[in-house]
Amino acid sequence: MLKEWWDRRIRPDKDIDWFLQHPDSLQAGSHALRIAAIYLVVGSLWILVSDAILFLIFPDPNAYHTAQRFKGWFYVAATAVMLYGLIYWRMELLSQAAQTIGAAYEDLQAAHEELVAAESELRYQKDMAQHLVDDAPAIILLWQLDGKIIELNPYGQKLLEVDRSPDELPLPELLGTSTASLAKSLVSGEAVVSELGPWEAPSGRQIYVWWNSRLITDPSGGEEKVVSVGTDITQQRELEGRLQRLAYYDNLTQLPNRQRMQETMDQWIAAERPFTLILMDLDHFQDINDTLGHDIGDLFLQHAAQQLRSITRDGEVLARMGGDEFGMLWPHVTDPDQIQGRTQEIFEVFGPWQMLDHEFMMSLSAGVAVYPRHGDTTVDLVKNCDTALNNAKKEGRNRFFVYSEDVQERNVAAIKMSSAIRRAMEQNEFELYYQPHIHLETGAILGAEALIRWPQADGSFVGPPDFIPLAEDTGQIYDIDLWVLQQAINEMKELAAAGYPHLVLSVNISSRTINQPQALAQIVQTIAAEDVDPQRLVLEVTETAILDRDHSAAANLQQLKDLGVYLALDDFGTGYSSLEYVSNWPIEVIKMDRSFIDNIGVDEKKEAVIAAVLRLAATLQYRVVAEGIETEEQRTFLMQRGCSQGQGYLFYRPLPKEHWRLALADSPAPDTQS
Ligand code: C2E
Ligand code: MG
Ligand code: MG
Repeated sequence: MLKEWWDRRIRPDKDIDWFLQHPDSLQAGSHALRIAAIYLVVGSLWILVSDAILFLIFPDPNAYHTAQRFKGWFYVAATAVMLYGLIYWRMELLSQAAQTIGAAYEDLQAAHEELVAAESELRYQKDMAQHLVDDAPAIILLWQLDGKIIELNPYGQKLLEVDRSPDELPLPELLGTSTASLAKSLVSGEAVVSELGPWEAPSGRQIYVWWNSRLITDPSGGEEKVVSVGTDITQQRELEGRLQRLAYYDNLTQLPNRQRMQETMDQWIAAERPFTLILMDLDHFQDINDTLGHDIGDLFLQHAAQQLRSITRDGEVLARMGGDEFGMLWPHVTDPDQIQGRTQEIFEVFGPWQMLDHEFMMSLSAGVAVYPRHGDTTVDLVKNCDTALNNAKKEGRNRFFVYSEDVQERNVAAIKMSSAIRRAMEQNEFELYYQPHIHLETGAILGAEALIRWPQADGSFVGPPDFIPLAEDTGQIYDIDLWVLQQAINEMKELAAAGYPHLVLSVNISSRTINQPQALAQIVQTIAAEDVDPQRLVLEVTETAILDRDHSAAANLQQLKDLGVYLALDDFGTGYSSLEYVSNWPIEVIKMDRSFIDNIGVDEKKEAVIAAVLRLAATLQYRVVAEGIETEEQRTFLMQRGCSQGQGYLFYRPLPKEHWRLALADSPAPDTQS
């Protein structure tokens, strides 16, 4: 305890830090007083006890006196040593303190310099941050967790075309997400990304922004803030959009393409969402392309796309599958009645198409397949839909088929029918009927059209529409046509022998036949082999025979014409051709289709068209034969407009040979020929 007191009070120099911490202990007055007090105590004690001590040490009076003499010196020396010690000790302490303070001052100075440097660095950093906020090409948005916007940098204001105070902006709309859910994620301390787009700026420009938001905590306990840094990704999104369009859309019609259609089907199938797929193929599109050129063909496709678009409903997909093939997806339309209704709408929007002052009849063939009934993968559905489409085309186009086992059955039936046709040819089962051509005014028979019939064992007939298209598909039509030609020539010879040398017989020649390379030689040989006047023979062809791609059919027809055979354009009015086009072909007779004639007395506009066609035909010196005349009104109308020949149920149905001969016998003599 005493030691501690000594160390603290008397020898505190042992611990200079103690002094520095107790600077009051270094008060000069108290120390001086303490030294003076020690001196006073020691001096007083010396005066009081020194003589007695001296007497004790030197009892001899002489020695005592001698010692007395040195006693003063001793006292001075002792006090001098004591004073020296005390002052030295104190001065030493002061010097140490001064050194410590000096060192501390240097430290302080260094710390101060560091502080000044740090402050200027801080100012620099702050300026830089402000510069970044003001000038960086990024949107910087500062907001509070309660949704209040504190700051939006100038770049952001300019980009988003902010025309009011930023704190009036709707924050969730700006960030493209709910602020509350964003705030929840931000509290975890992680940066949260979100995307805005499109943001419609006041000018109408669509802007896309990619946001990166982070919560900033104020260490001094102030309100937490969120910094959202936004990158303008508008160009990127636009580019993506363009690439998307290139990859998924058709350039000509702007419709989704096959790829897009298939991906949509994949998605719907994955979601087990029932839908109907309809694949459509424009009838005779190739003919339009070939005769009118690709530019018109493109317009035709665009028009078709437009018509289909007009009946496409929300949620449905319309795509151009390629070429002249279109596809549609109808979600939730799977009921046969609904399918029938929707398909009907398609056929209704495909009618006449006006182009280059001409009217073209547009039609299409379609196949339908339903998910999941007709396949549970995209590949199967498309395959089955294609089968149905092909059947629609085979059955004469301008119709649709829903895929079903029936379609498969029909394919099997077609195969059976094809072998039945072969057998019929071998066993000579076919027969020719003759439908008289009549002079409309006199009623005289001018000739006849030979029409094939296929009598069955039960007394019924298979009509040409039920086997001719199939025979065309299988190529059997070639032999059939040559057989009919041969029969007709035989009939011409018999008629001439029977006293009707003036009669003109018409024979239908399929476009499939006329486009066969060997057809011309065969026909010429067949005619030349018999002694008949080629001028009494008319070959009826449809425009598809003429609209072939390499023009060999047109050349073939020209040679037939050169031989003296008349050529008739059958079914005029059902295709695309106008008389102007026909004038380029070696055609002399126009057979006006029944669908035309049916309009007489029904549709005034169509009547005007018939009248115009007849006028033009007369100018171009075509002979016109009207088909399918069924009423007296039709006959009168046609006669009054200069059409002198026709055939139809009004006069005669196609007649078997004996009846045809009887009709001839009853017919008035043909005193007028046109
Ligand atoms: P097409 O050459 O236009 O023949 C006229 C069709 O109209 C015939 O049908 C005829 O029976 C029918 N018809 C004639 N007048 C009337 C009428 O007043 N009212 C109605 N409703 N119909 C009438 P058909 O005999 O059934 O022949 C259909 C088509 O089959 C023919 O049309 C022709 O394209 C084709 N065809 C017929 N025979 C042959 C043939 O021997 N060879 C080829 N390649 N095709 C043939
Ligand atoms: Mg005909
Ligand atoms: Mg016809």
